[in-house]
Amino acid sequence: MADDHIKNVVIVGGGTAGWMAASALAKSFGAACTIQLIESEEIGIVGVGEATVPHLSAFNKLLEIDEAEFVRQTQGTFKLGIQFLDWARIGDIYIHGFGALGKDLGLLPFHQYWIKASHAGKAKDIGVYSLNTVAAPAGKFMVSASDAPRDTPLAEIAYAYHFDAGLYARYLRRYAEARGVKRIEGKIVETKLRAADGFVEALMLENGTRIEADLYIDCSGFRGLLIEQALHTGYEDWSHWLPCDRALAVPCESVGPPTPYTRSTARAAGWQWRIPLQHRVGNGYVYSSRYISDDEAAATLLKSLDGRALAEPRQLRFTGGIRRKLWNKNVVALGLAGGFLEPLESTAIYMIQAGINRLMHLFPRKDFRQALIDQYNAQSAFEFERIRDFLILHYCATERDDSPFWNYCRTMPIPESLREYIELFRNSGCFFRNGTEMFGQTSWVQVMLGQRIMPTAYHPAVDWIRDQDLYQYVDHVEKVISGCVAVMPPHQAFIDRHCRAVAASA
Ligand SMILES: Cc1cc2nc3c(=O)[nH]c(=O)nc-3n(C[C@H](O)[C@H](O)[C@H](O)COP(=O)(O)OP(=O)(O)OC[C@H]3O[C@@H](n4cnc5c(N)ncnc54)[C@H](O)[C@@H]3O)c2cc1C
Repeated sequence: MADDHIKNVVIVGGGTAGWMAASALAKSFGAACTIQLIESEEIGIVGVGEATVPHLSAFNKLLEIDEAEFVRQTQGTFKLGIQFLDWARIGDIYIHGFGALGKDLGLLPFHQYWIKASHAGKAKDIGVYSLNTVAAPAGKFMVSASDAPRDTPLAEIAYAYHFDAGLYARYLRRYAEARGVKRIEGKIVETKLRAADGFVEALMLENGTRIEADLYIDCSGFRGLLIEQALHTGYEDWSHWLPCDRALAVPCESVGPPTPYTRSTARAAGWQWRIPLQHRVGNGYVYSSRYISDDEAAATLLKSLDGRALAEPRQLRFTGGIRRKLWNKNVVALGLAGGFLEPLESTAIYMIQAGINRLMHLFPRKDFRQALIDQYNAQSAFEFERIRDFLILHYCATERDDSPFWNYCRTMPIPESLREYIELFRNSGCFFRNGTEMFGQTSWVQVMLGQRIMPTAYHPAVDWIRDQDLYQYVDHVEKVISGCVAVMPPHQAFIDRHCRAVAASA
């Protein structure tokens, strides 16, 4: 039988997507496949993308990366969630925390009991019932206590990381090269297609080198060198729902210990991120160029930094949306080459990870069976669409009417899929995760409540508990959470003890 195994993979691009793909493939396929990565120092990488979601720890486990070493090498900090300021109304503040919300009871999630207690004026803000959302503003952090009793919140602390994107790419490069990935420095100037079927046949570098592979992974960033420029796959534009199309990014000096959360502050024409690292703070204003000029956006950003700016603001332009196919012929697009959903919930690195995972599960033979490709594309589109809806929720569920941007967001038509989620929650307090969508109940519930969507009803089974018992239960959960947070160390103390970066300590 002829050997129809894929033997050569070429990854185009050495940003976060390229090196994540190279690391995962090298670790998983070892010597069975030759992996080459082409990147151009002259073109460079986007170099933003510094906040993550908890799923990244699964990727680190796959690579068998030591967490403390990884955090140290990337000037990383820990993230318990995202704090949202001024989103539904100016002055509003809430946290989308990772991990559990309260303590579920019987068949029902905690928030169902909370709705009844809240209607009766017997409950506090939902944020006091989650370890993450209490610990984050208190500046506390620890990983799960191995000796904690299994039923306390300290036994399962969900967290993600903040890190320096440039250092992360370099860290993964060292990892991948140590496992046999060959890096080729050079600029691709031409993509040759096979006459018979339009598959990519070879890549031509500026210096005349010709590089061939069976499978090409396009991690070339927004330009989509193979997936778009060569294969003309097409792009589905979602900017009518996600109107921000530019960002200005600038690092600044830290003026205090790093907070264990990302901050997202709504502004007149978009929102501003703040990502604390060990050696600096990353900041950016994501905005809609229809509603604010670049100069005004830069002025807004610069006047609201914690400390001295460490560089000039750098502009990035994008269109929210997705490539019509993320896998086309023998090209799989990962990262910015595949699409862009703005970084409001720090999902892009997760989507790279999910794409790699999916590719490994649906890995083709040389015949590139269409069923594998179709499955990959269907799963990817579903994932993008569900995250898209979650992002739109932050914009559309607002009462803000203080700027043309917010007037647009508040009144824009929204996808039917999102409208159904909102209506179900508003009318019953219920939420149902759709299949394998990334964000689950606690995320959606926290953001819907944070955006002032308060259910008018709750599950009928909540009434099976006597009112006094219900209120006591809700109080008890709050006390357990605050007791746990009281014993957690400060975030900075945890870093100093376990993973302080060399330059940060110097
Ligand atoms: C404003 C902004 C903020 C973001 N914040 C977050 C966040 O907080 N969290 C998160 O998860 N994600 C975030 N992201 C997304 C994240 O930055 C990207 O997903 C991530 O950096 C991956 O980028 P990439 O590797 O796809 O592309 P790039 O970093 O652009 O890399 C492209 C690579 O392709 C190479 N290349 C291109 N053309 C050629 C050529 N002709 N020849 C040779 N090489 C070539 C380049 O040299 C480079 O190595 C953010 C994105 C933006 C725009």
